[in-house]
Amino acid sequence: MGIGVSPGIAIGKALVLKEIPSNLPKQSYHNNEEENQRLDKCLSTVRHQLENIRVEAEAKLGDMAQILDAQILVTQDEELLTFVRGKLKEGLTAEAAVYDGVEFYANLLANMDNDYMRERAADIRDVGQRMIRHLLGLEQSNLTHLTESCIIVAHDLTPSDTATMDQERVLGFVTDIGGRTSHTAIMARTLEIPAIVGTVDGTSIIKTGDMMVFDGESGELILNPSEETLKVYSAKQKQDRENKARLQTLKEQPSMTLDGRKVIVAANIGTPKDCEGALKHGAEGVGLFRTEFLYLNRDTLPSEEEQFQAYKAALEAMAPNSVIIRTLDVGGDKEIPYLGLAKESNPFLGYRAIRVCLRQTEIFKTQLRALLRASVYGKLGIMYPMISGLAEVRQANAILAVAKAELAAEGIAVSPDVEVGIMIEIPSAAVISDILAKEVDFFSIGTNDLIQYTTAVDRLNENIASLYSPYHPGVLRLVQKVIENGHKSGIWVGMCGEAAGDTALIPLLLGMGLDEFSMSAISVLKARELIGQLNYAETQAWVPEILAMGTAEEIKEALLLKST
Ligand code: PEP
Ligand code: MG
Repeated sequence: MGIGVSPGIAIGKALVLKEIPSNLPKQSYHNNEEENQRLDKCLSTVRHQLENIRVEAEAKLGDMAQILDAQILVTQDEELLTFVRGKLKEGLTAEAAVYDGVEFYANLLANMDNDYMRERAADIRDVGQRMIRHLLGLEQSNLTHLTESCIIVAHDLTPSDTATMDQERVLGFVTDIGGRTSHTAIMARTLEIPAIVGTVDGTSIIKTGDMMVFDGESGELILNPSEETLKVYSAKQKQDRENKARLQTLKEQPSMTLDGRKVIVAANIGTPKDCEGALKHGAEGVGLFRTEFLYLNRDTLPSEEEQFQAYKAALEAMAPNSVIIRTLDVGGDKEIPYLGLAKESNPFLGYRAIRVCLRQTEIFKTQLRALLRASVYGKLGIMYPMISGLAEVRQANAILAVAKAELAAEGIAVSPDVEVGIMIEIPSAAVISDILAKEVDFFSIGTNDLIQYTTAVDRLNENIASLYSPYHPGVLRLVQKVIENGHKSGIWVGMCGEAAGDTALIPLLLGMGLDEFSMSAISVLKARELIGQLNYAETQAWVPEILAMGTAEEIKEALLLKST
C-alpha cells in the first residue's frame, strides 16, 4: 500500500532496481593524484551521459527535460566538488568521497522546509548514484531498452530514469519514497503511467519476477495475487480502458448540462508543451498556465524574448480557445535562488507572487511585455496571483498600461481583446469581490491557497492534511459569494484550484453558477461527462441546502450521494 499518484490499473511482473551497495570501499590504494584522475574521468563521462539523456528526454518530454539541466549543473558544482576533493586528500576513494559529498549536501537540502529544495536533494543523489555506479564499474540502471513488459519497483526513480525509459514496456511505477509533488509522481501523470509512491519498504519485500497488481488511484497494491484477485483487477483494468475510450468520444463535444447550460472545461498547464495533453484530452482552453517553469532551474531571469516564445507557443497551440496565463507566482513553496529572496519564517504569508512583482517592477514589466507581444497569436487572458486587495490590482494594471504604452511607441502590435483577471485565493479578496469585480474582466478561484488561508491549514503539512478540505462550509460560502459578486458585475468566474476537477464538487460548483472549470488535463473528459449528466436547475436547488450544513464531513457525504 502506498500513495496513488497516477491513476490506472497495472498488472504485471516486477523489475526491482537495486540500490548501489552500502559498503563502499573507503580507503584508497591509489595515490591522491590517481584518485583525482578517476574522479575527473568519472565527472566527464557522467556529464556526457546526462547530456545525451537530455537530448533524448527533450524529444519525449519537452520542457520537462529541464530537470536534467539541474543535474548537469550538479556535475559542475564548485562547492560540492571542493568538498569531494578535500575528502580525496584525506585518503578516501573517489566513490566514498562522492558519497560523502552528495549525502552532506543532499541532507542539507532535504531538511529545508521547501519542496523545491527537497527536489534538488533528489537531483544531487541521482547524480551521485550515477557517478558511484560508474566508479564501481556497475551498470547504470537502464530502462531505455527493456526486453519485456514490467512494473518498475525502485527506492526512488530518478528523473533520468523516467525521462528515458521505454514507455511501451513500462506498465507502472512503484517507489519506496516520494509524495504527490515528487518528480516520479509528476512524470508518471505526464506520461499517463499508473504509479504508487511512498510504499516505504517495497524494494525489500518485492522481488524481480514477482507478479503484482496495483491501483494508481487508491494506492492499493497486491503482491502475488490469487487467481480470483487477478480476475477482479483484470476486470477493473478492462473497465478503465473502456471508460477512457468512451470518454474520448466526448472530446469534440461542448460541456453542457441536460437542460442546456454551457460551461468551459479547461486544463491547467505548466509549460507550452503541456498543450498537447490538454488538446488530447479535449480541453476547451487553458484556465491556468503557471509560468514559474520559465524561472526555475536556472541562474538568471528569462529574457523577454524567451518568455514571448513560450507564451506564443501556448497561444498558437490552443487557438481559437483562450489561454489564461498567470504572472509570476514565486515565493511560498516555489523558491528561485537567483532572486535572492530572504528566508522567511512564514513564506506562504510572505513576500511572494504579486508582492514581488509590484516591488521588483522590472521583472513584472518584462513578463507583461512578453505577454502583450504574444497576445496577437491567440486569445490571451492575463491573471495576477495572490491579490489581497484593490490597491494591488490598480498598481498591477498601471504597470500593464506602461508596458502597453511602451509597445505602442515601439510600433509593436498588441491584441485589443486581452482579458485581465485575478486569482481569488486570499479570503480578503473573496470578501471584497464585489469591489474587485468592477476592475477586472474575470475571476479565477484558486482553492489550493484559498483553503489554506481560510481554514489556517498549511497545504503542505502532512500532519494536518485531514483538516485541509475543499468541503469546509467556510470555503464553500466564500466560493459562492465570489461567483455571485462576479456575476453581479457581469464578469465570468472560473476555478483553477484542484477542487475544480473534484467530481463530488462539480455539481455544487455548477449549481453556484461557475462558468469555467480548469483542472489537470486527465480529468477534463470525466468532468465533461458528469456535467452532461446533470440538470442545471436541479444543481441550483442543491446550493442553499448544502451551504446550510455545518461540517465538511456532512457536506462531502451529501455531495457524494448526489454525484453517484
Ligand atoms: C491555487 O492556489 O488554487 C492555485 C491554482 O495556484 P497554485 O496551486 O499554483 O498556488
Ligand atoms: Mg495559489
